[in-house]
Amino acid sequence: MSTAATSDRPAWRVLLEYVRPHRGALLLGAVLSLMTGATGLALPLVAKGLIDDLSADRSIGGALLLMSMLIVANAGIGALGGYVLQRTAESVVLAARRALTSYLLRLRIAALDRTEPGDLMARVTSDTTLLREVTTDSLVGLGTGGLTLVATLVMMGLVDPALLAVTLVVVLGAGCVIGLIVPRINRASKQAQASVGLMGAALERVLGALRTVKASGAEGREERAVHAAAEESWRQSVRAAKWSALAGNTAGLSMQVAFITVLAFGGARVATGAIDVGTLVAFLLYVFYLMSPIQQVVRAVTQYQVGAAAIARIEETRALPAEPPARVRRPAPAAGPASVTFEDVRFRYADDLPQVHHGVSFTVPPQGMTAFVGPSGAGKTTVFSLIERFYEPSKGRILLDGTDVREWPLPELRAAIGYVEQDAPVLSGTLRENLLFGALEATEAELRDVLATTRLASLVDRLPEGLDTLVGHRGTKLSGGERQRVAIARALLRRPRLLLLDEATSQLDAVNEAALRDTVADAARGTTVLVVAHRLSTVTRAERIVVMDAGRVRAVGTHRELLTADPLYAELATTQFLTSAA
Ligand code: ADP
Ligand code: MG
Repeated sequence: MSTAATSDRPAWRVLLEYVRPHRGALLLGAVLSLMTGATGLALPLVAKGLIDDLSADRSIGGALLLMSMLIVANAGIGALGGYVLQRTAESVVLAARRALTSYLLRLRIAALDRTEPGDLMARVTSDTTLLREVTTDSLVGLGTGGLTLVATLVMMGLVDPALLAVTLVVVLGAGCVIGLIVPRINRASKQAQASVGLMGAALERVLGALRTVKASGAEGREERAVHAAAEESWRQSVRAAKWSALAGNTAGLSMQVAFITVLAFGGARVATGAIDVGTLVAFLLYVFYLMSPIQQVVRAVTQYQVGAAAIARIEETRALPAEPPARVRRPAPAAGPASVTFEDVRFRYADDLPQVHHGVSFTVPPQGMTAFVGPSGAGKTTVFSLIERFYEPSKGRILLDGTDVREWPLPELRAAIGYVEQDAPVLSGTLRENLLFGALEATEAELRDVLATTRLASLVDRLPEGLDTLVGHRGTKLSGGERQRVAIARALLRRPRLLLLDEATSQLDAVNEAALRDTVADAARGTTVLVVAHRLSTVTRAERIVVMDAGRVRAVGTHRELLTADPLYAELATTQFLTSAA
């Protein structure tokens, strides 16, 4: 994938990639700021003319008019240039945020398993912001500052090459010192941004489990964790600021040194008659003029280190593996219930983690309900994750409708499946938004239909604003059973060819459980239903039961068959399944 290569590129190439679409505007901004500088430089000359006119008793009308025009032009062009540059820099930030968000949403689940959402969030919100300064200060600063610098040096060379050589020695000496400082700014900036990421992760951890934090009396501890990350970011930013200030002052100091050195050498040259006093004065003025572009260039370099640190974090995210494309493009498969086959599937979540599936094989025909049972950790949820292609098996094949899931285009594969996670989240927003989340085109009639079958209609009637009631962050305004039914309704509205239902262990009361049993049985008439079951009521309804243990399929059969044929199943049936609603 092209994403893998992105992390090796130097930061400036990445920056140029973001800037490229705005290069016209950036150039315009740079030209405008050069013009601002030029009008500023012209002012002293006009002032001198005005004074000359005054002392010569000439009319000063012309000079005054010119001066006012210059002042207005300087202010106007300056404002316009600043606006154009800032606008461009904001566009670069926007481009980075868009690119990063697009990547994040298309990453493999396996890549996300190893990242902190809060840290990823910091990359989108905080790191991208740093591209603003690097665009204006580094790119434009280096352009305009560098141009002015070169022009001034050329002028100096024309005035007196020998004095230019002296100046260059001093400036290059300072350059070496700054060169030593620059990597430290980079390192400190990287650590500062990493700490912002840690702070995001720590915050996400607290805010995501605020009730548990409070109930555990852990506010103080969690607060300290967030503060520690914030303080570390402060410490590193202060370090970066210290080195930046040192670099800036080294540049300033070098100019003072250059001034004195030129004065001494130049004085000696004047004494020997090599140059006249006017030449020395002109040269000293140029040394003075050198100050501002040099500081601009130094600022460009130091700001670039901050930006490069942010770009490295953005690129790191972009280098994470994206979801795989289909190996072969097949014509869209037929409608109707789908069959599922596992052929000797072996799987581990990561190379350094133990194997979870040790050769799982089973076949589910295209209809009816199949229950998966087994002790916790047996690998039941993993079966669903593999069907959805959240992960890839290391060996074996998974077939949906006889086609390897790797050959299904991912959107079509997922469109064919309705997936209800074990603890399916309710997203913040309205109930309607939650229900239509995976099926925006569903009609009002379909919605009412599904609400009736999932026994949510009475809930909707009770809610103050019906379907348009806000259900709160993570559905905190709903009960556990209601949340699960919302998740099932959401999956059913997609009219799936295969329904994957990872039953929650104890979310439903007896009445709702009976209702849901009918719903799932109803659904199983038009769809293939796979359900990870924890209830006897579910397994007795199932056409077949797959008993899993420690990453293997132990037995397949009906409830009656398995009660006698499989001791583990018999034990599960008596000890683990809730028998109330059988
Ligand atoms: P079940 O649903 O049967 O209880 P799972 O399929 O969820 O079991 O998990 C099987 C094994 O895989 C467990 O040992 C679990 O710890 C591990 N596991 C599950 N999800 C992940 C993950 N995202 N990363 C690493 N290990 C995981
Ligand atoms: Mg599970």
